[in-house]
Amino acid sequence: MELLKERIRKDGVIKAGNVLKVDSFLNHQMDIALFNEMGKEFKRRFADVRIDKILTIEASGIGIAAIAAQYFNVPVVFAKKAQSINLDGTMLSAPVESFTHKRKYEVIVASRFLQQGENILILDDFLANGCAAMGLCQIVEAAHAHVAGIGIVIEKGFQQGGEMLRAKGLRVESLAIVDGMDAETQTVQFRA
Ligand code: 5GP
Repeated sequence: MELLKERIRKDGVIKAGNVLKVDSFLNHQMDIALFNEMGKEFKRRFADVRIDKILTIEASGIGIAAIAAQYFNVPVVFAKKAQSINLDGTMLSAPVESFTHKRKYEVIVASRFLQQGENILILDDFLANGCAAMGLCQIVEAAHAHVAGIGIVIEKGFQQGGEMLRAKGLRVESLAIVDGMDAETQTVQFRA
């Protein structure tokens, strides 16, 4: 998606440790006009599949999932990263290792929000090693629902997540795939 690539080139900051900081338009401040275009693009790419619900993970996935959901006309469920007294009923959970925070946590969804047989579109802001997406897939499977696809805003193609998910037969659509980035020159290389 050209508009997104241009924005990453203009406002993305490359940090040490293969981290791309895009907090001026995606992860902290959110550019809603851009989010709308990304939502339309996800809808265009998944136009041929039935989607009953969008599943994402707090916190950064929520904004894009909520905007995209308006084009799919479906509810959004976001997995929580911590137990809370407001979580009740049967829970589905999966372990996730955070790429940015380097720690392990559980992602949790109340089972009543994912029904057997539903077609679920997983959306997230970044795909790196694929741990977050795999955790969400495990939750969908545990609910006896079906992963219709995985939509990612920025995939870091030089990390193994995308390859791992596609090798499992999952349909992954990334709006921008970064194949390389250089912190010294602050340049990003995109997959064509
Ligand atoms: P994964 O589980 O695929 O290794 O990492 C995905 C999660 O880590 C995303 O939900 C995102 O929050 C975070 N993440 C991974 N790489 C980056 C990055 O380069 N920049 C930012 N801002 N977040 C990242």
